[in-house]
Amino acid sequence: MAIQWFPGHMNKAKKAIGDRMKSVDMVIEVLDARCPGSSANPLLESLSGRKPKLKILNKRDLADDARTQLWLDYYSGQSQTQAIALDASERGNAVKLINASRQLVPNRGGIEKPLRVLICGIPNVGKSTLINSMLGKKSAKTGNEPGITKAEQRLFLADDFWLYDTPGMLWPKIIVPEGGYNLAASGAVGRNALDEEEVSLELLKYLSHNYFDLLTGRYQLDYEHDEMATWREEQWLEAIARKRGTILSGGRIDYQKAAEIVLTDFRSGQIGNITLELPNEWTKWLAAARVF
Ligand code: GDP
Repeated sequence: MAIQWFPGHMNKAKKAIGDRMKSVDMVIEVLDARCPGSSANPLLESLSGRKPKLKILNKRDLADDARTQLWLDYYSGQSQTQAIALDASERGNAVKLINASRQLVPNRGGIEKPLRVLICGIPNVGKSTLINSMLGKKSAKTGNEPGITKAEQRLFLADDFWLYDTPGMLWPKIIVPEGGYNLAASGAVGRNALDEEEVSLELLKYLSHNYFDLLTGRYQLDYEHDEMATWREEQWLEAIARKRGTILSGGRIDYQKAAEIVLTDFRSGQIGNITLELPNEWTKWLAAARVF
């Protein structure tokens, strides 16, 4: 898949995060609840070493609740780790985040020993939205396209709770192919960096196997259930294109347009509450990728 990465930016972020890591007590990692495995940057795991970690499964409002619970259980089984699921724009997130952090690092607190926390996340997971909602601000810095570089900031969520916003950008790092597709589908990589038709086909393959009813419910396709159950992803895309009338002159199908419709619907939650990977799927993909 043709995704262009930015190793220069990545190295700069790596150095800056490594420097900051020395003076913090724990790390908060913001993940996308629709693809928690894929939206984690493995670099952070190595940089943060044994520091306690709070995983935030953000965008829970778009994800599948039952699967979110599986991911929360999965992370809770890891040492020095806690996990909570959030919708970044909700009220009360600061309290949830502070409470979970204090449990992880009980020996810090009070003005003399403030709890120092580094918050990280790949672009577009909703880190700015979360920070702004916790500070009660409406900031201009949130947006739908990833890649707005920001300087490091120290934020005071409480007198004795200091939150360091990540210096530099933590770009996604694709370690398994499935992860690349899931990141692309969820919008974590810039629109021009990927082939939308290919991403939509992978998405349709996963949805037709795992969320068949949501897919048929959304597009109201005029076919028998049993017939659709045998379809390959190309047939789904074609049927959606026909239903939505994305037809070019001469009757040719505009697959690109149909792909855009599917991706936009998925990203905005119009198809339903969906999570693209399970903890056991993710670990299987990872194990297979390491063979090479
Ligand atoms: P950042 O690059 O990690 O700082 O991401 P942003 O905060 O700019 O968010 C990227 C996009 O995701 C924006 O369009 C946000 O409105 C949206 N977003 C962030 N958090 C949530 C969430 O919890 N639920 C939903 N539905 N959208 C969110």
